[in-house]
Amino acid sequence: MKNLFIPLALSAALCLPVQAQQFDDFFENKTLRTDYIFTGDAHKQEVYLDELSALPQWAGRKHHLNELPLAGNGEITMKDKASGQVIYRTSFSSLFQEWLGEEEATRVKKGFENSFLLPFPKKEVIVTVELKNAHHQVCASLTHEVRPNDILIHQRGNARITPHRYLHQSGNLEDCIDVAILAEGYTEAEMDLFYKDAEATCEALFNHEPFKKLKNRFNIVAVASPSEDSGVSIPGQNEWKSTAVSSHFNTFYSDRYLTTSRVKSIHNWLAGIPYEHIIILANTDTYGGGGIYNSYTLTTAHHPMFKPVVVHEFGHSFGGLADEYAYTDAPSPLYPYHIEPWEQNITTLVDFESKWKDMVPEGTPVPTPVKTDKDEIFTSVGVYEGAGYTLKGIYRPVTECRMKINEAPAFCPVCQRALERLILFYTEKE
Ligand SMILES: [Zn+2]
Repeated sequence: MKNLFIPLALSAALCLPVQAQQFDDFFENKTLRTDYIFTGDAHKQEVYLDELSALPQWAGRKHHLNELPLAGNGEITMKDKASGQVIYRTSFSSLFQEWLGEEEATRVKKGFENSFLLPFPKKEVIVTVELKNAHHQVCASLTHEVRPNDILIHQRGNARITPHRYLHQSGNLEDCIDVAILAEGYTEAEMDLFYKDAEATCEALFNHEPFKKLKNRFNIVAVASPSEDSGVSIPGQNEWKSTAVSSHFNTFYSDRYLTTSRVKSIHNWLAGIPYEHIIILANTDTYGGGGIYNSYTLTTAHHPMFKPVVVHEFGHSFGGLADEYAYTDAPSPLYPYHIEPWEQNITTLVDFESKWKDMVPEGTPVPTPVKTDKDEIFTSVGVYEGAGYTLKGIYRPVTECRMKINEAPAFCPVCQRALERLILFYTEKE
């Protein structure tokens, strides 16, 4: 919490040089992209190093370097080799970990690409990647060294930069959250359409609080990655296309689940353009999408529900928010009842203090009866049963929220607070 009694100028004088120095002590103003393959099946998982790359700028935070804003389903820790000091941490979720809950994962071993952006170290560092299971226990990890002068670190982003255009620019890379909107399934001839769709994405996002009031903390760049074919692959209809990032519907055999497992291709298109968070727009009107925390959002650009869906998916990929909807009485393998989920907008009541207990009016019954009054449906904070795919034993903050249904006009107050905290973590130095 801020100390209100320190004058602003003094506070800045005390804090800023120390933090700035800390970044410069250990890092160059460049990015180390680490590509991994997460492999295995429901029983056993492993992490392998694929490739290291250097990108010409660092667009991420230069403060809170060794802190995590959210636990995530996995974590990366970078340590200075000489001192053992933790100099950077970040967290993530992955499509691989989602897949582990599928029936297919009980009978076949698969490998999934994952790429992460870390500040480029000045000296030798030790990087550890950990994957956690639904019980928040580490189930796979890899530790490897990075020598900054390693000749096999792939230098990317210095030539042949993908054409791009800023749609919203608030400030420099260091002070702002840099979001890249990438084209998928748009041919060269369709790029005007892509830029229009990217503008619509911007509008949708900044039409939602807290993005609206914190708009000046964001830079949004549209990146015109061309595809050979128009549209994206729909395996369920035997339609396969050649597109920029090889996305397809029917992920895990689910009709509406649109993702890509070619994660390196996403990052290769973006090399040389500063970015931290990724929204991929698919040139199709078939309904679908997906969003994975600190990985990417991928969504259909021409369905009538496009605007609420892209914001919902960004709630996952940027905000680490959980789905607030539920459709089955069966317990979810993702959210065991005796574990408090790390996602800020659902709870098993195991550690409700760490969630939105402070926002629930005294005397509110648990579970809270759903609201029917128009004004209260979206705003009346309580402890409503049914969230995280399960109708029983998991609770959400309001009757209806952007993270539950497309018809909701906004994020609920709890999701808004979680998003705001995250934006401040990334953009405020203290
Ligand atoms: Zn919510």
